[in-house]
Amino acid sequence: MHAVRFHELGGEDRLRYEAVADPLPGPGEAVVRVRACGVNHLDLDLRSGTSRFPVALPHILGMEFSGEVVAVGTGVTTAKVGDRVMASAIPCETCRYCRTGRDNLCPEARHYGVLTPGAYAGYVKGPARSLLPVPSGLGFEGAAAIQIAFGTAWHMLIVKGGLSPFSAGSTRSSAPVAGLARRWKRWRTSPRGVCSLR
Ligand SMILES: [Zn+2]
Repeated sequence: MHAVRFHELGGEDRLRYEAVADPLPGPGEAVVRVRACGVNHLDLDLRSGTSRFPVALPHILGMEFSGEVVAVGTGVTTAKVGDRVMASAIPCETCRYCRTGRDNLCPEARHYGVLTPGAYAGYVKGPARSLLPVPSGLGFEGAAAIQIAFGTAWHMLIVKGGLSPFSAGSTRSSAPVAGLARRWKRWRTSPRGVCSLR
């Protein structure tokens, strides 16, 4: 397959499109044909060397992706070839959060493209349990865009903030929150509904 890798830290000029070995699934793993991949700011930090995470070079970035399962390893029961999936964190599966179904709080969770090869590539592999189904009606690009930036904003505005149709709200936070607020306003436009941005 081909992938975008970098062999040394620096700017975007360090990215190289090159041939690399196809990933093969080990036990419990799945290989996904990448259809879309978002760009998270952590990608930039990892490439430039300003992230707190170590980088083993050469490295393939890409933590927010979607695609289709093309191969599974032994023991996989949560995904099958042809499934439309998107990435999530890779939980440890042993801590108290993972054991109680709250793996989104796992303190040992890893992410694709951080300590493992990511999805700036034709294919990416990882634990099958880390893959989530893409709902019908949601395209690959949308699935890749909602995973971290949109999910964080949704949690802040809708879950924590209680923003609802016809409610008023304001945000002066980061881009994902502002983006979601704009989208929410577009969905719920009404004479009484307003999201002011500042
Ligand atoms: Zn855990």
